[in-house]
Amino acid sequence: MIYHCMNDACRFWGEGETMPQACPRCGGPLACAQERELTGNDWSALGVFWVEQDGHERRALECFRRSAELGSGWGTCNLGLCMEQGIGIEADPRQAFWLYQQAVEMGSLSALCNLGVCYEDGIGVTASPKEAAECYRKAADYGSARAQRLLAHCYEQGLGVERDLEQGFRWLRMAALQGDAASQAILGKHYEFGIGTKRDPELAVAWYRKAVQGNDPEGKCCLGWLMEQGKWVDRDPEGAIELYRQAAGQGSSRGLLLLADCLFHGIGTEENPALAVRCYEKGAAGGDTDAMCCLGWCYESGAGVEQSWEQAAAWYRRSAEGGNGRAMGNLAWCFDNGKGVEQDEAEAARWYQKGAEAGDVRSMYCYAYCCEYGEGVDSDLEQAVLWYRRAAEEGETTAMLRLGGLYENGEGVERDLPEALRWYRRAADQGSGDAKLQAERLAEELNGETDGTPDPAH
Ligand SMILES: [Zn+2]
Repeated sequence: MIYHCMNDACRFWGEGETMPQACPRCGGPLACAQERELTGNDWSALGVFWVEQDGHERRALECFRRSAELGSGWGTCNLGLCMEQGIGIEADPRQAFWLYQQAVEMGSLSALCNLGVCYEDGIGVTASPKEAAECYRKAADYGSARAQRLLAHCYEQGLGVERDLEQGFRWLRMAALQGDAASQAILGKHYEFGIGTKRDPELAVAWYRKAVQGNDPEGKCCLGWLMEQGKWVDRDPEGAIELYRQAAGQGSSRGLLLLADCLFHGIGTEENPALAVRCYEKGAAGGDTDAMCCLGWCYESGAGVEQSWEQAAAWYRRSAEGGNGRAMGNLAWCFDNGKGVEQDEAEAARWYQKGAEAGDVRSMYCYAYCCEYGEGVDSDLEQAVLWYRRAAEEGETTAMLRLGGLYENGEGVERDLPEALRWYRRAADQGSGDAKLQAERLAEELNGETDGTPDPAH
């Protein structure tokens, strides 16, 4: 039996053996309908009902097909989405692209956005950032909040348009003002970190709250983090973990990871490493490389699981192969020390290099060390200087000390004593006792020179 909500604003449609007492969406009264009375948009609404039920993908597809045949742009767009994602039928990206084009002709703004996504990601068509941005702009001009958010992203990444953070911010704000909860969360981040606009704690918190009211999982993570830290809001770990729990329940991998971290460290709840491990496992199963890396660390330290170097190295490897820089550094360390894998200097150096290139600071330092001493790679002092410098600029104290040494000895870089002294002092400022001694010694030598003591190097 097909039934629908009598409340025009709700537009709920459903189907089943019996009709429920009231509309499950708004609680309003329901009425039955015959298939032949359904318009194209009614069929699309019914298709949405079936997409949300598990295991009824074929019926959903059939509804969208009937909808498209009746000329509904909405249904045609949804039929395209089934083709794109393989819902009820084998995925057919070219067919999806064609359906989106048809739906755009029928006036569907969602289809115009989806067409843009096809151009951006090369789905059923050759990728073209320019065409993607064009689609988003057209839909954004017609007032689609999702298109405005996607166009903002193009401006921020320089995708198909010249990079322009202020333009990005303006489009994002427009989408947020229209009530798009995902845009409100992102706008909050712009105010938190000063992207395309001035930093503004009050506005950041206000937009995060709006996003949370709109049930946006990313907004919940952002507001929860401020509550956990007591940054700009009252510290409230219990409130934070509740928001993380909700976000995780909505399928947010960041929410799941934040929840796991709280369980692991006992923040806002009792410490429960075993439960944290289960969260990490769930995140890892969903392909989250951060969760995989954390799981590796649980096995390394034996927190919440029985300690196992083999398991630790295996999880680091999975995470590293997924592109996680921190996991690359950890896997390299396992190879370096023969923990859970056979000791292998060359493999260690190879993973340190990958980790360094992926931006992991400890890997930068370790790879520089490999290059300086020729461990696992041919000795290369210029590479050593390059990576010590990158690590030092990220604040790595030992890298500053070693960089100072290379400048002092003119190894891999032209000898430059004032520069050496500068790096020793920076490391000393961060509390390195060794660096303090080196800085004092070198400063004395340099003073000696200016006092007229002959420099033996000349
Ligand atoms: Zn209703």
